[in-house]
Amino acid sequence: MSADDPAAETATAGENDDHHDFWAEAVADEILARNPDDPIVIKGGVSPSGVAHLGNVNEIMRGSFVAEVLRSRGHEVRQVFTSDDRDPLRKLPRKLADPDGQIVGLGDVDAGALGRNLGKPYTDIPDPFGERDSYAAHFAALLEADADRLGVNIEMYSNTALYADGTFDPVVKRVLERADTAREVLSEYQAKADDEYVPFNPICAECGKLTETIRSIDLDAETVDYVCTDMEVGDETIDGCGHEGTATFREGKLPWRFEWPGQWQVLDVDFEPFGKDHAEGSWPSGIDIAENVLDIEPPVPMVYEWFTLNGEVLSSSAGNIVTVPELLELLEPEVIRYFFALHPKKARDLDLSRLDQLVDDFDRFEDAYYEGVDDESVTAFAEAAYPHVVDEVADEQPIRLPYTFAAVLGMVDDPALREKLARDEGHIPDDADDATVDAALARVERARSWAERMDNAYNYRLQAELPDTDFDDATTDALDALAEVVAADHDGETIQSEIYDIARDHDIKPGDLFAAGYRLFFDETQGPRLGEFLGDLEQEFVVDRLRRER
Ligand SMILES: [Zn+2]
Repeated sequence: MSADDPAAETATAGENDDHHDFWAEAVADEILARNPDDPIVIKGGVSPSGVAHLGNVNEIMRGSFVAEVLRSRGHEVRQVFTSDDRDPLRKLPRKLADPDGQIVGLGDVDAGALGRNLGKPYTDIPDPFGERDSYAAHFAALLEADADRLGVNIEMYSNTALYADGTFDPVVKRVLERADTAREVLSEYQAKADDEYVPFNPICAECGKLTETIRSIDLDAETVDYVCTDMEVGDETIDGCGHEGTATFREGKLPWRFEWPGQWQVLDVDFEPFGKDHAEGSWPSGIDIAENVLDIEPPVPMVYEWFTLNGEVLSSSAGNIVTVPELLELLEPEVIRYFFALHPKKARDLDLSRLDQLVDDFDRFEDAYYEGVDDESVTAFAEAAYPHVVDEVADEQPIRLPYTFAAVLGMVDDPALREKLARDEGHIPDDADDATVDAALARVERARSWAERMDNAYNYRLQAELPDTDFDDATTDALDALAEVVAADHDGETIQSEIYDIARDHDIKPGDLFAAGYRLFFDETQGPRLGEFLGDLEQEFVVDRLRRER
């Protein structure tokens, strides 16, 4: 295949899914059309960087849905994930994640030690937190923990280990045997493929950095002779030390465009999802190298869209990321899984300020699975995808408090009052057992964390005791009148509009009456939409508080 028609080459699985309601079903069809042997191998990969975040999880989750569908069709599936950890550290990361996944700055670690290791493989750099064998092992552990938190079982592979134990030997040998063909193929994709170019980067025995000037290849001994010269990697230059030495095929690495197809070969990969960067870059060359240098069939590909966070590209250096542990403080794991079950071809934004909408969508998706909703496409999608999104399909539909209502309950500290309010509003059936009630109320803590993180209209605390107040007569009369309205059993909307009418009748500014309410209920000068909030609370309590009685 040539690079003449990149559009044709990047046409990927899951595009033609008219007859399926869940994209992963169509992808599974394409994989099975090749009659792969069990176990079917699904791969993903990552280059270790400073922080493991939700962007890295995209690939893991996409692969896991395809794995789940294949398993449900009776196939054995392995989901493997490579840490491309023989890559060199090119520049200092601005942020790192500590062993608990919390983001810290370089000032919290020995940045000097990292700086001295620029140009060395990640596996040869000490863990900045001193717990694991290397920087790479630290990062891999974070990613594995994230996958685990989301209920995905991945087998992590270290590229360095695959070179060191000889797994990659046949690939390196093949590429170097066919170095002329490799150069020819590569020259269609990148400028740096002149007659001198050898697609292998030894690790310098003297300085430990990756280097690229090869003087000779000994295919029988499986070694190369090299000179440690400067090497351009992306925009960075790795300084060479001038050392001349000999390296075995296990003491170096293939350049990425060869390494990726090499992984397909040694891990026997049947399917790999990847982002748009690869679709335009190393995927077309990967096919070419697989077919014309390695003589293997490339896996079924699938290009997924990236998602943005709060309307901006994910970027650890710019600080626009969210980690899995952070997001799990705000959302149930099944809601995060649901986000990735949505079609991978559509670019989406994860807007943390509107997580209530995402949770509402998930709740509707769940309703659609159990009862059906008035949109047939949503119901069909739910029937196909829901069993793969939840850990286990419960016999009875789980009780879910609407997320914003949970946020309202989050303003109340007392667990018994939270439960009472949820029951009063009809969100918990009378016959619900304790475990069901606890499960439903668990969302309150998450919505509370959301309110605090976003500092939004729900980030207030209902005062259990009557705060000190100092109202004038007009205001106390107005509060008494408002108490009458609430006692007459009006809903939140009515209470909200009555606040304006009562203020006018008592010749005070509406803002002053709202302020009095915020003082009474939150001991603050501002707060949420007061009428609706009071409408959600227990009536007797609201009436007594408006009368300044408790
Ligand atoms: Zn060197």
